[in-house]
Amino acid sequence: MELLKQRILEVGVVVSDQVLKLDAILNHQVDPVLIMEMGKEFARLFRETKPDKVLTVESSGIPIAYTTALHLEVPMVFARRKKTLTMDQDTYSERVPSFTKGIVTDIMVSSHLLHKGERILLIDDFIANGDAARGLIRIIEKAEAELVGVGIAVEKSFQAGGSSIRERGIRVESLARISSLANGQITFN
Ligand code: 5GP
Repeated sequence: MELLKQRILEVGVVVSDQVLKLDAILNHQVDPVLIMEMGKEFARLFRETKPDKVLTVESSGIPIAYTTALHLEVPMVFARRKKTLTMDQDTYSERVPSFTKGIVTDIMVSSHLLHKGERILLIDDFIANGDAARGLIRIIEKAEAELVGVGIAVEKSFQAGGSSIRERGIRVESLARISSLANGQITFN
């Protein structure tokens, strides 16, 4: 998606060879016009797969998953990282390593929000090693729902996450693919 690539070049901060900071548009401040266009693009790419629901994980996946769900006119569910007082006891829960925090965290979805046979589109902001996506996929499997595809805003293709999920026969679409962050330079595929 050209608009996203342009914005990444304008505001992206290369933190290291492995990490790109997009706090100006996606991960801290949110650019609503851009996020709306990204949701429109994911909806265009995945409409034919007839998703019943969009699933993401808090917090940075939420805006993109929301605009995708809005364009598809289906509900959006986000996995929580902390159990709240109001949350049901009955949850699907998975332990995943967090790429940016360097710790292991639990992600959970109330079991009444994912149903057997439901068609689920998974959306997230970045894919690096693929742990977050695999955790969400395991939650979908536990619910006996059906994964129709994975939409990622920024795929760092020099890390293994995207390809490891494609190898399982799962459709992965990313709006921007970065092949390198070496020497402070953002290079797209
Ligand atoms: P993975 O689980 O695929 O290793 O990492 C994906 C998660 O880590 C994403 O949900 C995202 O929040 C975070 N992440 C991974 N790489 C980056 C990055 O380069 N920049 C930012 N801002 N977040 C990242």
